[in-house]
This record gives sequence, structure tokens and C-alpha cells, in this order.
Amino acid sequence: MKILDAVKQQHAALTTLRRDIHAHPELAFDEHRTAALVADRLEAAGIETHRGIGRTGVVGVIRAGTSKRAIGLRADMDALPMQERNTFPHHSKHPGRMHACGHDGHTTMLLGAAEHLARHPDFDGTVVFIFQPAEEGDGGGREMVEDGLFERFPMDAVFGLHNWPGLPAGSFAVHAGPVMASADRFDIEVLGHGAHAAMPHLGVDPVVAGSALVQALQTVVTRTLDPLDPAVLSVTQFHAGEAYNVIPDRARITGTVRAFSTEVQAQIEAAMQRICQGIGTAYNVNVRFNYMRGYPATINTPAEATVCAEVARALVGEGGVRTDVKPSMGAEDFAYFLHEKPGCYVWLGNGPGEGGCTLHNPNYDFNDAVIPTGVTYWVNLAQRLLAASAA
Ligand SMILES: [Zn+2]
Ligand SMILES: [Zn+2]
Repeated sequence: MKILDAVKQQHAALTTLRRDIHAHPELAFDEHRTAALVADRLEAAGIETHRGIGRTGVVGVIRAGTSKRAIGLRADMDALPMQERNTFPHHSKHPGRMHACGHDGHTTMLLGAAEHLARHPDFDGTVVFIFQPAEEGDGGGREMVEDGLFERFPMDAVFGLHNWPGLPAGSFAVHAGPVMASADRFDIEVLGHGAHAAMPHLGVDPVVAGSALVQALQTVVTRTLDPLDPAVLSVTQFHAGEAYNVIPDRARITGTVRAFSTEVQAQIEAAMQRICQGIGTAYNVNVRFNYMRGYPATINTPAEATVCAEVARALVGEGGVRTDVKPSMGAEDFAYFLHEKPGCYVWLGNGPGEGGCTLHNPNYDFNDAVIPTGVTYWVNLAQRLLAASAA
């Protein structure tokens, strides 16, 4: 492990900072305290700082040397709307809000890297530090892109990092290609005709039609997709009726679709549309189908993934970097950045995940022991990509 000495010296201070952010979680686009904390520290370090990019996003810029090359390094700042169950002193001070995904750690590590590079600008080019809001579903990354992130701060490539429970603490997983899935949502309304439950022939039953629909939707992935294209279609809600003896007049079905390419997303949407129409005809119900695109798939570009893996190997050794870990069907807002620029999003091991220390679990906590690893990784990545000798 080749942690920078200067970073080691910051470990205690950065741990205090991380726990302070953990104790004060803020939800999507409401990260005012966190964003101010980040921006204030960037400014205190003498870094050019821009507030309010993509609403509550913050951008810091460090320029060194003469090279036109530029890279972006990104962290996310938001927490989740859930109740923390941890009782340690830095547990959430806000009921119903929790840093259960480690964005407190991501923010801390990127801030640590920015402060280090401000003190030691031993690179040639521009490093853009991107602190994004609203990763957990509300598209803060997209908001920053739409707010002109890449026009205002031109960069050649962009890099992300997420802690990963289940991977040994301080180890890395790097994917060349898909790493996180797309996440779409669907709403289906099945409109029948209400009736007395003892006289079904006088109505049109949306419960039976909806049940057939749920079953038929399970054939989308298994019967219409190439078996080598991974995808998930999960029905997660089925609401209908209120009484034992009433056939309701409508049912509502919702769920999520995950895939690794826009082509597969389109195939799934088309198949679902067809099935909704067919079930409607077969069961004499009116089916309203609404498919909503969410985060696209997060796809690392191979050249950038290779560099990230090399930087990680130089830091933690050959055995500490895996390139064979399966992608996750979870989704990631970083996808919007990778839609615009080449880049790579890596996983940093958070430890075994014992005692509920897994993402989005009420007993999760970011592992402070890995802070120096994450900070050094960012510093080394910037130095490698903007090496003075390569100018
Ligand atoms: Zn999360
Ligand atoms: Zn997360």
C-alpha cells in the first residue's frame, strides 16, 4: 500500500469531516449545508470554486502547468430518506435521513484529494472536482450536465468512485465496459368494470387481467431478449380493490426494468407495449402503459478503465484490484457524465458488509479506514493522466 504520507497525516481530520457529514445528511437538491461545507473548504484551500451548478452542485478547478488537458473527478453528496439504526456518536441527527450509501465518504475523499492537489499541484493540466447533488434517483448528474458542466469546464474524461461493501476494505474493482445498469420505471393501469364479486359476469375483472399481465411480463426477458443480454423486469406493486365482495374497476401495476444498453431498453419497452395491448384484448380491459426512462447504463470506456486499474494496482498491489467482478444491476447517476465523456467509475472495497453494513441498509456506515486509499487514488489518477512528462 503506497498511501501518500501527507494524506496519512490528514486521516484523522478527514475522518472527523466524514463523520460530521454523516451526522448531517441532506436529501436530493437540499444539500445546502454539505455543498457550503465543500465550497468553503475548496475556497479556503485557494481553489477556484463554483457554487450552484445543477442547483446544489459544487465545482472546484485547479490548473497547473501549461497543458490543455483536463479531467473531471466526481463525488456525490446526497443522503437517503431512511431512518438510521446505528447508535454510534456520529449517527444521523436528522430523523428519516441517512448517509446509507457512503456519499459522505465520497465527498470527504474527493475534498481531501482537492486539498492535497492544491498544496502539491505536481501535474500539468486542469483537474475539475465535481461534487454532485441528488445521485439517489433524482438525476443531479443530469442536472449538472444540463447546466453546462462540460461547456463551462471542458474536460477530456471524467472519473467516479463508489465504495463497495462485500469487497475487501481498500481493494478495487474496475470494469472495462458495463458496471451499473440502466433503471427505468413503468406504470400500468388496467381498467375493467366493477361488479358484485358474486356476479363476475356483470363486470370486467382487472385483477384477473392484471394477474395475467404480470405473468406475461415475465416472458419479456426470458423469451424476447438474447440470453447473453442481461436484463431484469420486476413488478413491484399491484394495487386493486378494497373489499372482499367487490370486483374493483381498476388495478395498478408498477415496476422497474434494468439493462446494460439502450437497445435492450427499447426492446423491453416494445415487448411490454405489445403484451399490454394483447392482454387488453384478450381480457377485454383497457390497459394504459407508461414507460419512463431513468438513469442510463453506466459504461466505462476501456482505455480509461485500463488506466484506473493501473493506478489502483500501483497503489494497493496486483492482488488488491479485481477486473472480474460482475457488474451490478443497480443504477448510477454517473452514467450521464459517461454519456458525454469517456471515463471510468470504480468500486472501492468498504469491507465485508457484516452486521448490515451494506448499501442502503439502516446499519450501514462508510469505512473510514479506506479514506487515505481513496484520496491517494484520486491524487495518483490526476498525476498519472496529467503527467508533466506526457505534455
Ligand atoms: Zn445509493
Ligand atoms: Zn451511492
